Amino acid sequence: MPQRIATIEERLRKALGDGLLAQEPLRLHTTFRIGGPADFFFAARTPDHLVTALRAARAAGVPVFLLGGGSNLLVSDAGFRGLVIRNACDAVEFEGTVAHVGCGTDFLDFIYQCRDRGLAGLEFAAGIPGSVGGALFGNAGCYGQDIGSYTIECTHTTPDGAVVETKPAAWYEFAYRDSRLKREPRVLLSCLLQLRRGDPVESRREIEEKLELRRIKHPQWRIEPTAGSYFKNLPPDWQMPDAKHSPGTHRVPAGQLLDACGCRGLRVGDAMVFAKHANIIVNAGHATAREVLQLAGTMKARVREKFGVELEEEVMFLGERPEPGDASA
Ligand SMILES: Cc1cc2nc3c(=O)[nH]c(=O)nc-3n(C[C@H](O)[C@H](O)[C@H](O)COP(=O)(O)OP(=O)(O)OC[C@H]3O[C@@H](n4cnc5c(N)ncnc54)[C@H](O)[C@@H]3O)c2cc1C
Repeated sequence: MPQRIATIEERLRKALGDGLLAQEPLRLHTTFRIGGPADFFFAARTPDHLVTALRAARAAGVPVFLLGGGSNLLVSDAGFRGLVIRNACDAVEFEGTVAHVGCGTDFLDFIYQCRDRGLAGLEFAAGIPGSVGGALFGNAGCYGQDIGSYTIECTHTTPDGAVVETKPAAWYEFAYRDSRLKREPRVLLSCLLQLRRGDPVESRREIEEKLELRRIKHPQWRIEPTAGSYFKNLPPDWQMPDAKHSPGTHRVPAGQLLDACGCRGLRVGDAMVFAKHANIIVNAGHATAREVLQLAGTMKARVREKFGVELEEEVMFLGERPEPGDASA
């Protein structure tokens, strides 16, 4: 009698055990609180588990998406057809002023760990949600600083989990909200970050100051779900008279153009432009990805019409984009 062919779920479960979830709602894993189900979902707590999950997906022929804190993501209402692997590898070790950090570590939690050890440098980033790996992927930053400048090297694997290698920071080509990983996908497992000796009292003060600034200007994502700035600031060669540059950079903030186009308060369904910041979309209840995309499209069109420039999305989209007129997606 021919052997029964194992289903994809059986094959994944054999490799990943009971930690494998089916039909997991992705809205539970994004700060936007938007997104349909992933066919399969697995939280990898060690680099070995992560590599095993990548290899199992490859062997089963299943598409994979690597999730950090889900704070820079808009997930399709239809969800994701494949395996979402959440990087939950959060081991941190310190050696002098160098930290060896698992890339699933929560960024703010890591900044607190540095503060407690009298290690300074990353206070500027206090309040950027998400994981250290997600921060490296998009070279997260603010006030003209970014995580790439503190990176010595990273260890990553190829998306199929076949090759694990360590590369110096220069390999990642960190630039404004950009890294080589956006062009050559790799999964970051861990990194070495360079800090400096500091005063914990001063670090505490600076962290509190940065968190307070965010409390005043930005939505509190646990209460007002959002993915942060929706569009990137303008490229340095795009200037306009009387523009106030975003702190520490020579870039005109996208928010200024959106403000000039009267975008604050615009709303499509439950997707709404934040009242205090024209470049932030919040989920004011039960917003769908479709509503967010429609709102973002209107914002882009207004800026195009008034300034002749095309805004570029900072928030990433996961899953299938809805067809125009398709109300289900
Ligand atoms: C309220 C708010 C404020 C914000 N403020 C800022 C800010 O000041 N500056 C800023 O830069 N950003 C900001 N953001 C955006 C976001 O927090 C950052 O981009 C963050 O670094 C994303 O990390 P994450 O772990 O949540 O990534 P996710 O959203 O989970 O993923 C984003 C991308 O990174 C990839 N990725 C994640 N982990 C890894 C990994 N280990 N290896 C390879 N790829 C990986 C994912 O595949 C995906 O493509 C803000 C967001 C919010 C909600």
